[in-house]
Amino acid sequence: MKSNKQRRAEIKARRLERAAALEARLRVRDVRTPRVWESVPGLEVADKSKLAHCNTLYGEVPDFYIDRVFTCRDCSAEEVWTAKQQKWWYESAQGSIYSHAVRCSACRKARRQLQATASAHAGANLLREEVARLRALAAAKPNAVALAEIDAALQSKWRSLRVVAIEVMGRWGGPEQVVRLKAFVAGHPGGSNHRWWEREAADAAAKALARLAEEKTK
Ligand SMILES: [Zn+2]
Repeated sequence: MKSNKQRRAEIKARRLERAAALEARLRVRDVRTPRVWESVPGLEVADKSKLAHCNTLYGEVPDFYIDRVFTCRDCSAEEVWTAKQQKWWYESAQGSIYSHAVRCSACRKARRQLQATASAHAGANLLREEVARLRALAAAKPNAVALAEIDAALQSKWRSLRVVAIEVMGRWGGPEQVVRLKAFVAGHPGGSNHRWWEREAADAAAKALARLAEEKTK
C-alpha cells in the first residue's frame, strides 16, 4: 500500500513532468492555433469574454493557459500552477493578468491561517479599546453624546459592549437611567427560549436596577 504522502509526491512528479513536456512541445509548435490543443492535458483554452478586466493594450491577454512550474517563495519547493487553476484565477476570480502563483498550496494555507489569527487579534484589541472607552464614560455625568454612544453599544453585536453599556448606565444612576434600564429589561424578557448571551445584558440591567434601588433605600 502506498501512503497518501507517496501518492501526492507521485502526482506532483507527474505534473512537473507534464508541464515541462508541454512547454517543450509549445516551443516548436504554432501556439496560435489553440483549437488543436483543446484536448491536450495541462492546457486550457482561455475564454476571452471573461478577460475583459485585463488590460489588452499591450496584448497581455492569453489565448490559453498551460501548467506552469514555479518555485514557492516561502519553502522553495517546485510546484505546478495548473492551467485549470490559472483559468479559475484569471477568469472566475478576475485576478490581475500580472499576478501569478508564488506560493505552494501548503504555504498559502499556512499564510492564510497566520493572517486570520492576526486579524482576530486586531479585532480583539479594538474591542478591548472600545470597552475601555465606554467604561470611561461612567466617570462623567451623561451628556447627549455619551447617551447616544451607550444606546449604540446596547445594539452592538458584541455582548461585551452591550454589558458594559448597562454597567455604565447603572453607574450613572438617577431616575433617567432607571427608566432606561427598565425599558431595556422590558424589551428583553427572560425565559428559557433566550440564549445566555441574549439574556446576559438583560440580567446585567436587572442587577443594576436592584443595586440602584438598594442605594436609594440607604
Ligand atoms: Zn511552499
